[in-house]
Amino acid sequence: MIRKKIILIILDGLGDRAVETLGFKTPLQYAHTPNLDSMSERSSHGLMYPIAPGIRAGSDTAHLSLLGYEPYEVYTGRGPFEAAGLDMDLEPGDIAFRCNFATVDENMKVIDRRAGRIKSGTHELIKELNGIEIEGVKFYIKPGVEHRAALVMRGPNLSPQITDVDPHETGAVVHEAKPLVPEAEKTARVLNKFVKLAHEILDKHPVNIERKNKGLPPANILLPRGAGMVPHLKKFEDMWNMKGACVVGTPLIRGICKLAGIEPIDFPGATGSYDTDMRGKMTKAVEALETHDFVLVNIKAPDLAGHDMKPVKKVEVIKRIDDAIGHLVDILPENTVVMITADHSTPCSVGDHTGDPVPVLLYSTDARRDGVRFDEVSCAKGTLHLCGKDVMPVLLNAANRAEKFGA
Ligand SMILES: [Zn+2]
Repeated sequence: MIRKKIILIILDGLGDRAVETLGFKTPLQYAHTPNLDSMSERSSHGLMYPIAPGIRAGSDTAHLSLLGYEPYEVYTGRGPFEAAGLDMDLEPGDIAFRCNFATVDENMKVIDRRAGRIKSGTHELIKELNGIEIEGVKFYIKPGVEHRAALVMRGPNLSPQITDVDPHETGAVVHEAKPLVPEAEKTARVLNKFVKLAHEILDKHPVNIERKNKGLPPANILLPRGAGMVPHLKKFEDMWNMKGACVVGTPLIRGICKLAGIEPIDFPGATGSYDTDMRGKMTKAVEALETHDFVLVNIKAPDLAGHDMKPVKKVEVIKRIDDAIGHLVDILPENTVVMITADHSTPCSVGDHTGDPVPVLLYSTDARRDGVRFDEVSCAKGTLHLCGKDVMPVLLNAANRAEKFGA
């Protein structure tokens, strides 16, 4: 029995619904995909519910499910995964948030939720804030791209059950974090104190005085949102007996992989935008197979087109993905299993994630060839019928890596 290696390609938000302007086809049904079609001739297909039928999965909860974690157990909010994606040191029990540098006036009214998409200076701004301790709780901040940052609270008896400080709209007054359960009272109180103290420090910081002098909005407040508790994730390698790597752009998915012990392969320019170098990602994935047994690739562009409600753009993105798949087939080493699927549907008619199932393609030299095309409708006639939690066992089986149950 030859143990094969595995590439799992997640086309973020690929699944769609019938689009009237495309003759009631989905973008994937409509798009001309010669390379995917030729791979399909040698593959099994099916449909998958990333979490369960009808559940509208986030990218984070869906990726957790596909990698074999129980999202309802390990997920309390996206903050921890964003923070891990920025390479912050985290400990189980920490409370982490995504946050924005923003601009408020003297009445704490939000003037700009992104502080003019501040380009530089955030690393200097956080210097005085990092390590601040309030009531035995320490605060750590790490800036991301532009106005984005992650905030971590570390201390005893903290809870993620609090509301956002970020009011999510311009012109609104900054919210106070409120506890959703009695055990979260301290967390909310301490966070509110920190936000106020940070505002006082930031407002008179030289970087902001300079910004004001130049007529730029000062980055004079941090607006945390998406509180979550850092989970204790069992290591991917211990669960599946495979060394994992990932080629992903978005910090959120990178963070999930980091917490799972899946090694992120750095990929310049992989910021999760429309113009990601998709061929380059395939090359990186194949290179990573030399040192790893399993490589996860995430391509964000289809999700963006879905959120933007642009079916024609989604068709274009799918054609570029098809080109990258052609490249992958050209360089794919022998004895590799490839699964192509999505983490959820992002239909252009909705502009957000839905619970519709996603198509699955499973390629291997000895895969059952079910003669189905890779799209949301044809895949229903395929041989696979999965939920997200089935993905890893199905891959392990296809790669001849599954343990036999019984004699
Ligand atoms: Zn999305």
